Amino acid sequence: MTDQNNSDPRAKDHPSVGEDTTDDPAKRALAWAHTARFLTTASQLDQLPQVELPEIAFVGRSNAGKSTAINTLTQQKRLAFASKTPGRTQHINLFELGPKLAADALFADLPGYGYAAVARGAKLRWQRVMAEYLEVRRGLTGVVLMVDSRLGFTELDRQLLDFVSPRVGNGSVKLLVLLTKSDKLNRREAQASLEAAQAVLGEVSTEESDIGISLFSALKKSGVGDAAQVLHAWTRPPGG
Ligand code: GDP
Repeated sequence: MTDQNNSDPRAKDHPSVGEDTTDDPAKRALAWAHTARFLTTASQLDQLPQVELPEIAFVGRSNAGKSTAINTLTQQKRLAFASKTPGRTQHINLFELGPKLAADALFADLPGYGYAAVARGAKLRWQRVMAEYLEVRRGLTGVVLMVDSRLGFTELDRQLLDFVSPRVGNGSVKLLVLLTKSDKLNRREAQASLEAAQAVLGEVSTEESDIGISLFSALKKSGVGDAAQVLHAWTRPPGG
């Protein structure tokens, strides 16, 4: 996918008056993302509803900027709350998208991993829930992995890639990596961050896989329209 980090972010914030937005795929995708509303929360996989809708999972190390990315993509202040309370964050939160009475997709906000204050037992339990979710969840269509652009892939991110790599490798689950907080990088660092992440993803990429990567800044709103378009496209029926 193309990286929007070099484009002028003001163009997105202030569309020119009279601009025809109906044919703009980024605007359409953002309008769709904006429909996201809370559906349910679950602490175990078997508590998740079995719905026949394409589901997109958001995953990432704690503090990678996942909640901020979800709120930015959906243009809602507190859809995913950036709460660091372990009791709160150790749940899978499901959001529904699309027309009110005809939802057409789900977002699943998975607990951030690597949070230092979580007890070892709880960490292991969550690792298992996460692995199982990524391996068996039926409607899972795509995974959005948030990686702090300054830190790159950590050991836990690589483990997460391992969990999902069979399905990414055979093309049944798509992957988008957002290199978050890219506003903190200069142009050279941003390029280096992209290249390092591309090298890691090269290890899981196959002929069938669909893997995207983009610099992303919630602060500068860069990469947001692009990411929304990718997610929107993932949830459309083939040829639709
Ligand atoms: P989560 O634990 O992955 O949900 O991370 P949060 O969304 O709570 O973000 C962690 C911290 O990073 C917070 O202090 C955010 O304000 C900050 N943050 C998130 N996105 C950005 C960004 O695009 N730019 C900058 N500079 N800070 C960000």
